[in-house]
Amino acid sequence: MRAVQVNSAGGEFEVVEREVPDPGTGQVRVKVDACGVCHSDAYVKEGARPGIEYPRVPGHEVAGTIDDLGADITAWEEGERVGVGWHGGHCFVCEPCRQGDFMPC
Ligand SMILES: [Zn+2]
Ligand SMILES: [Zn+2]
Repeated sequence: MRAVQVNSAGGEFEVVEREVPDPGTGQVRVKVDACGVCHSDAYVKEGARPGIEYPRVPGHEVAGTIDDLGADITAWEEGERVGVGWHGGHCFVCEPCRQGDFMPC
């Protein structure tokens, strides 16, 4: 697969070929049709957050089609169109979480 990566903090974007990964247990693989690059990716590219490992492929908001299923997947099927947004986890107890709005947690 083709990817655009950054090899070091502050480095230039580089188009590379990578092996297509197999989905792990509880994961699906998405063939990406489009990928947004937002300001948090700019932080990754410039190394503005601690603990970032390189090379790194910025971009975490994608639209595409599920093309393979890992073990224990029952809610998704190959060929389904999906969109993926950023989600860094949630606590289930703050006010937004209690209203089912996990993103601002
Ligand atoms: Zn983002
Ligand atoms: Zn929360």
